[in-house]
Amino acid sequence: MKSEKISQLGEFGLIGQIARLTKTRPDILKGIGDDTAVIASKGNDVLLLTTDMLAEGVHFTKNMGGRAIGHKALACNISDIAAMGGAPLAAVVSIGAPPATKISFIKDLYRGMESLARRFHFSIVGGDTIANKNIVINAALLGRAQKSEIVYRSGAKKGDMIFVTAPLGRSLQTKKHLTFTPRLAESQYLLKHFRPTAMIDISDGLAGDLGHILKASKAGAVIYEKLIFKTPRATTQNALYDGEDFELLFTLHPAQGRKLILSKNLPYKFYYIGDILHKNDRLTMIDTKGNRRAIETKSFAHF
Ligand code: ADP
Ligand code: MG
Repeated sequence: MKSEKISQLGEFGLIGQIARLTKTRPDILKGIGDDTAVIASKGNDVLLLTTDMLAEGVHFTKNMGGRAIGHKALACNISDIAAMGGAPLAAVVSIGAPPATKISFIKDLYRGMESLARRFHFSIVGGDTIANKNIVINAALLGRAQKSEIVYRSGAKKGDMIFVTAPLGRSLQTKKHLTFTPRLAESQYLLKHFRPTAMIDISDGLAGDLGHILKASKAGAVIYEKLIFKTPRATTQNALYDGEDFELLFTLHPAQGRKLILSKNLPYKFYYIGDILHKNDRLTMIDTKGNRRAIETKSFAHF
């Protein structure tokens, strides 16, 4: 429909239409539809590519401080690379800013980004700079992974156990969205010792992002309210539907899941929250009273 507006289609409807207009080369192993694109390279190496955009007045206000905003701009990309099972290599960062913007703000932005780049061993290698009415920041991050270790959203199988890193909920209120550590170390630990069947980073809320895994994997799931580890003062609703947790959600074959639960002295915390079911079971939650209820897999809506 020619007259249709973005607000009618929604973010994911729009992305679906964009996907239909694009053609992927045969060496693109995954285009639109996962946490990053996956591009074949030499031998067992693959390249990962992802991008995120932040706009003043939508995702941040200047008073949050340049460093924190810079941190967020790159940390959400690292989180997406971690969710595929890769590690970051290089970033290009583009900024738009009004001419009256203080240089100290822009420098702080880059200090925040550079500090993450050093911590996670990648480099900022370029970008673009334009004048704009509001401040916008777009970061694209290139990563690398072993082809045999890539974890797509689509691999969850009936019986698999669902795990998350935590805590979940109230990221905006607690400022976690500006300060979070992307779960790269957790992802690398998992890949070294386990074989996740599906993985995603929780950026749109537990329900929405588990929903993405279920859709891609053609599966259903049950989660257990009492097992969901929440941020202080967060409700189950917060954990299910708040955005920007940037925790990892992954699934493991039950034998592997039991091994993870029984592992002693793990360097990281992984919380078992539910099980993958048949597609017809959709998504349900057993609440703290033992009642089963349907969970809507809606996400944080940008439009
Ligand atoms: P994430 O939350 O992991 O960053 P998104 O929900 O933003 O992922 O995006 C879902 C998928 O849609 C990704 O594969 C992303 O690359 C793709 N996508 C989002 N916006 C666009 C766009 N404007 N053009 C092409 N692909 C897009
Ligand atoms: Mg993601």
